[in-house]
Amino acid sequence: MKIDGKAVAASIREELKARAERFEQAHGRKVGLAVVLVGCDPASEVYVRNKERACAQVGIFSETVRLPEEISEEALEEKISSLTEDSRFDGVLVQLPLPAHLDARSALACIPASKDVDGFSAENVGKLAKGEDCLVACTPRGVMELLSRYGVETRGRRAVVVGRSNTVGKPLALLLLHADATVTVCHSKTQNLKEICKEADILVAAVGKPAFITADMVKEGAVVIDVGINRTEGGLVGDVDCAAAEKASLITPVPGGVGPMTVAMLLANTVEAAERNA
Ligand code: NDP
Repeated sequence: MKIDGKAVAASIREELKARAERFEQAHGRKVGLAVVLVGCDPASEVYVRNKERACAQVGIFSETVRLPEEISEEALEEKISSLTEDSRFDGVLVQLPLPAHLDARSALACIPASKDVDGFSAENVGKLAKGEDCLVACTPRGVMELLSRYGVETRGRRAVVVGRSNTVGKPLALLLLHADATVTVCHSKTQNLKEICKEADILVAAVGKPAFITADMVKEGAVVIDVGINRTEGGLVGDVDCAAAEKASLITPVPGGVGPMTVAMLLANTVEAAERNA
C-alpha cells in the first residue's frame, strides 16, 4: 500500500491553519516566517515559491528576502541577524545551498535556536541528540509523522537508514532511536549493505540515486520510506526500484510521499516556534 504524503500533509495544513488563526486572535498578528534567498539558483527558487504558497494556505505571513549572489558574508549575517530581531518573524530560514564564497555554518549560526525552523542550528541538533524538546529538521520530522499517522510501530523494530547527511539521515536515525527502534545507519563505506537492509522492518533510503534500493535488499512486508528525489529523463523518481516497492507492506511514492511532508513540517515548526516564543 502506498503512503499518501500529499493527503497527510493536507490534513496537517488544516490543523495548522486553525492553530495559526488562534495565534492571530490571541496576539493580534499573524505567525511569520522570513526566508533568505541568496542568488538565483533555479531549484532554490522553486523551493522558496513552494514555501511561500504553503505559508499563504495556512495563514502564515511570509516574506522572502532576496539578496544578490555577490553579497559579502558580513552583509548576509547582518541581514539575517536583523530578521531574527524583527518581532514579525517567529521563524527565519536561509535557503541552502549558498553561493560558494559564503559559509553556511556562520550564516546559520546567526539564527537563534528558538527561531531556527529548519532545525539545523548546533543547539537544536544537540538537543535532538540528547532527546530534548527542540525544533527538528523538517524532512526527518515528516518521516516520523508519516510513520505515526499510518500506525507503524517503531518500538523494538529494526530500522535501517541508508544515508547519513546532517539534514536527513542523521537526524532521522536519532528520531527513530528515540522512538525505541533499533537503528542502523548505512553510508557509502558500509559493507554488506544488502544483508543489512534485508533485516529492516523499516527501511529508509536517503541516498540520492535512482533505483538504488533493489528488490533483493528489501524484506517481504517491510515499511519502506523513500526520501530520495532524483530528476531523470522520465521525471522525478526516488531511490527505491519499482520491484523493491512491490515487496513493501507500505511505501512512500515519489513524488507524493515524503516531499509534501517536508514543507508541512516547516509550517508546523513555524507555528510551534510562534506558540512557544509568545
Ligand atoms: P547527501 O548527498 O547529503 O547524502 C547522501 C547519503 O547517501 C550520504 O550519507 C552517502 O554516504 C550515502 N550514499 C551515497 N552513495 C552510497 C552508497 N553507494 N551506499 C550507501 N550509501 C551511500 O543527500 P541528502 O541526505 O541531502 O539527500 C538524500 C536524498 O534525499 C536526495 O535525493 C535528496 O534530493 C532527497 N531529499 C529529499 C527531501 C524531501 O523533502 N523528500 C529533502 C531532502 C533531501 P557518505 O556519507 O558516505 O557519502
